[in-house]
Amino acid sequence: VTRSVLVVGAGAVGASIAAHLVQRGHAVTLVDRGAPGEGTSHGNAGLIQSEIVYPTAFPQSTRVLLRYALNRSIPVHYHARALPALLPFLRRYAEFSRPEPYRRVAQAYAPIMAQALSEVRALADAAGSRPLLHPTGWMKLFLTAEGMSAGEQEAEKLRSEFAVSARVLDAGALRTLEPFLDPSLVGAVHYDGTDALSDPGLYVKHVARYATRLGARLTTGDAATLAVDGNGWRMETADGPVSAETAVIALGPWSGGLTRRLGYRMMLEVKRGYHMHFAPRGNAVLGRAVIDAERGFLLAPMARGIRLTTGIELADIEAPATPVQLRRATPVARTLFPLGEMRDESAWMGRRPCTPDMLPVIGPAPNHRNLWFAFGHNHHGVTLSAVTGRMIAEMIDGETPVVDPAAYRPDRAALG
Ligand SMILES: Cc1cc2nc3c(=O)[nH]c(=O)nc-3n(C[C@H](O)[C@H](O)[C@H](O)COP(=O)(O)OP(=O)(O)OC[C@H]3O[C@@H](n4cnc5c(N)ncnc54)[C@H](O)[C@@H]3O)c2cc1C
Repeated sequence: VTRSVLVVGAGAVGASIAAHLVQRGHAVTLVDRGAPGEGTSHGNAGLIQSEIVYPTAFPQSTRVLLRYALNRSIPVHYHARALPALLPFLRRYAEFSRPEPYRRVAQAYAPIMAQALSEVRALADAAGSRPLLHPTGWMKLFLTAEGMSAGEQEAEKLRSEFAVSARVLDAGALRTLEPFLDPSLVGAVHYDGTDALSDPGLYVKHVARYATRLGARLTTGDAATLAVDGNGWRMETADGPVSAETAVIALGPWSGGLTRRLGYRMMLEVKRGYHMHFAPRGNAVLGRAVIDAERGFLLAPMARGIRLTTGIELADIEAPATPVQLRRATPVARTLFPLGEMRDESAWMGRRPCTPDMLPVIGPAPNHRNLWFAFGHNHHGVTLSAVTGRMIAEMIDGETPVVDPAAYRPDRAALG
């Protein structure tokens, strides 16, 4: 049966949902307040990090926590005034990060991660975006023997538990692959089985355009106008009011605001992050994204230049940008790789939509008919975008989705 579906939010997740629905013959309207792929999905590191079945946990070591508490580190920054409101989230996040619950989180994350890369590749092929997707993998770099040995153990664990492909590189092997990196690095782990996007925002635009080529309508509108309309939904758009039998909320970090208006208290907060592009100096080339694991930032070769992305900033979703982590990371990054002039006038800021159990929210809204939630993809929303699109489309059609959605069901993340 053909259904009319309103997909609200045209980030990586919403655009992928629209594409999967329209592939199945549904009448889809994809709405965003702006153009597709200009929210969080624009400025991330572009990694299809499907081998990271252990999601980003709350630190377990007191030493690390104390370092972060000083608020001078590169990986973590916080606005002190935002902490009281974030405390319930942080407390739960810390609980899910304890060894036993965390092990269960990883077990629940593994099946969706296992499906993520093949789904991104399939959608990229359909959308004509394959040239943006590079089979380079990415690397974790180490400056100390201690860091290297922890990195090797992590890779070994991923290999034995989840058959993740990882190659341990000593200093020489690293230099052969990435000759322009700091020669004092002791080695790296190369997660070589996955891909990276050289322009994630453009990829989302391709997916949205592909959906419109298949017949979806793309328009602008404010999600705040979404309202129940009989058995279905209705929303004001630039093309006038749109009614549909079914609605899907895919507003990424902004999903909390809309679901609150609909009566839900979702456990969703944001971890903000920044980027800046640099020209490579001279003839320097970076072959793949590299994470400086010990100092806490990332460099990724992108269409626009070398993109430096930062770790976690705990702050209110709409508080003004405070790119101090970029300022701290830049001089260090210059010692890691020869970076030339900055290519952006100001830092880009994004918000990772985060749940305390680190798992995405994918499934039917607990208290409304014909309403679906698809948000909270934490640090891996681009990676998980296509598989989420497929799962939502399959569930709307009443089919058994490609990945068992039980662990991602919205009611587990709703406080009321
Ligand atoms: C620095 C950084 C690096 C990252 N690196 C990676 C990585 O390497 N790999 C990876 O997989 N993930 C990465 N992530 C995470 C990833 O970017 C997110 O999980 C993902 O982009 C979320 O996608 P989304 O479609 O849910 O949200 P978004 O892309 O934010 O889309 C939500 C959309 O909703 C729209 N919207 C908001 N409010 C309204 C409204 N009122 N009305 C209408 N529309 C509205 C916005 O305009 C936006 O287009 C990174 C994130 C950051 C910040």
